[in-house]
Amino acid sequence: SKSEIGLIGLGTMGAMLSLNIAEKGFAISVFNRTSSRTQKFHEEAGDLAERITPCKTLEDLVASIAEPRAIILMVPAGAPVDEQIAALRPLLGKDDLIIDAGNANFRDTEARAAQAEADGVPFLGIGVSGGEEGARHGPSIMGGGRKDAWDRVAHILTAIAADYEGTPCATWMGEGGAGHFVKAVHNGIEYADMQMIAEIYGIMRDGQGASASDCAAAFEAWNDGPLQSYLIEISGKVAAATDDQTGKPVLDIIQDRAGQKGTGRWTVIEAQHLGAPVPVIEAAVAARNLSALKAERERGEALFGASPVALPDGALSRDDLEQALIAGKIMCYAQGFQLLNAASAEFGWGLPMPEIARVWREGCIIRSTMLNDMAEALTAAPQDNLMFSPFFAGLIEANAPALRKVVATAVSHGLQSPALAAGLSYFDAMRTGRSTANMIQAQRDFFGAHSFQRVDKDGAHHGPWGL
Ligand code: NDP
Repeated sequence: SKSEIGLIGLGTMGAMLSLNIAEKGFAISVFNRTSSRTQKFHEEAGDLAERITPCKTLEDLVASIAEPRAIILMVPAGAPVDEQIAALRPLLGKDDLIIDAGNANFRDTEARAAQAEADGVPFLGIGVSGGEEGARHGPSIMGGGRKDAWDRVAHILTAIAADYEGTPCATWMGEGGAGHFVKAVHNGIEYADMQMIAEIYGIMRDGQGASASDCAAAFEAWNDGPLQSYLIEISGKVAAATDDQTGKPVLDIIQDRAGQKGTGRWTVIEAQHLGAPVPVIEAAVAARNLSALKAERERGEALFGASPVALPDGALSRDDLEQALIAGKIMCYAQGFQLLNAASAEFGWGLPMPEIARVWREGCIIRSTMLNDMAEALTAAPQDNLMFSPFFAGLIEANAPALRKVVATAVSHGLQSPALAAGLSYFDAMRTGRSTANMIQAQRDFFGAHSFQRVDKDGAHHGPWGL
């Protein structure tokens, strides 16, 4: 009998996703550019091998799937996706569905969806989060493309997705590139969450002389409170781990240069296109870029002296640090959801805000208890800034003073906290009814006759510059 679905690309993610699909009871055909990998994958699939059909050619793959077909691509984003689509389309029927499940730039997905629409063939772009473990046992899935195409495979995607108290973490977000856009913002928030945790770690390590295991204890304790999340949990685990070769804490032997594949950068670029402020995410991306400048940083340290200096005893408590992270996190998510709102309006997607918070509650890297509260707040007021919801406004009032204390103390002791500081600055900006942009408007009018609006009259006005 024929398979219900096919998958191309048995790398880390594709292999795990295929096992997950087979485990949920679906027959799946798989193909990989390098055939030996397909063979090996099938041999190592154990009990699941009987539901997996390994294929040596694309023709075999297509022939082994029941019509109308659905085929998932799990290859690197960019040209490989276009190459696969180009190789596959001529072999497929008009109703056969191609699903790009890699980390595509949503603009590419928009273009591929438009091409598919013009050709009268179905196409989906879905964001899959949760890394290898998520792909194997339940990722968070953010779907984009035609709703009727999503509905054809929704039973498979919801079956393999993570489960949050009975609700699958797989949702159709909207047409075209909507799913990949939501995935990019997920990754941007991920960068920011990670950066803020790293800043708090730095304050403990460099400001308080805390050992890696002291830091581990703090993260472990916080994981029982409002910060409960996968990233806090693994931060505790990595801080507690010991290097096999040296017996030192693993954290202490890892180079301080952060890698990135670019999805956080895309989020920031798109936010700039939309004019949506996401300063916490911007700070996080900039911090990764700065981390790469290792040689320059060492040169600067030799020239100007090392930046961080120890904090006086008792300057910051562990509670201060926890509360600062809570407040910073809320600012970051408030910005992320407002970016999603701006994109939804610009591209006409009608993004389901509370559903986005819901699919992020399990399976993905940013999963956390707080997302459940965010889903509730966004159900009540989907377009509203999260910081104005009664629940989060209360949390901000309780925790923002600690954020201010932590940022002020860190800055005055040369401890890096750019993302937390950006969160604090956003909070202050968002409660400043009269900003200083009147000065900007006056300058613009002075040098470029751009005009300004008056506080007391309608219309466009010019200043008495005597030009
Ligand atoms: P891997 O590098 O592990 O695997 C890549 C796969 O794509 C291999 O099967 C490879 O085949 C195949 N491939 C590479 N280039 C081509 C090509 N030009 N034509 C056809 N096949 C090709 O990648 P991942 O599994 O990590 O990532 C796949 C996608 O999933 C990416 O878009 C990635 O960004 C995304 N993703 C990854 C996550 C992760 O945690 N790793 C999380 C979420 C999404 P071959 O064996 O022949 O080299």
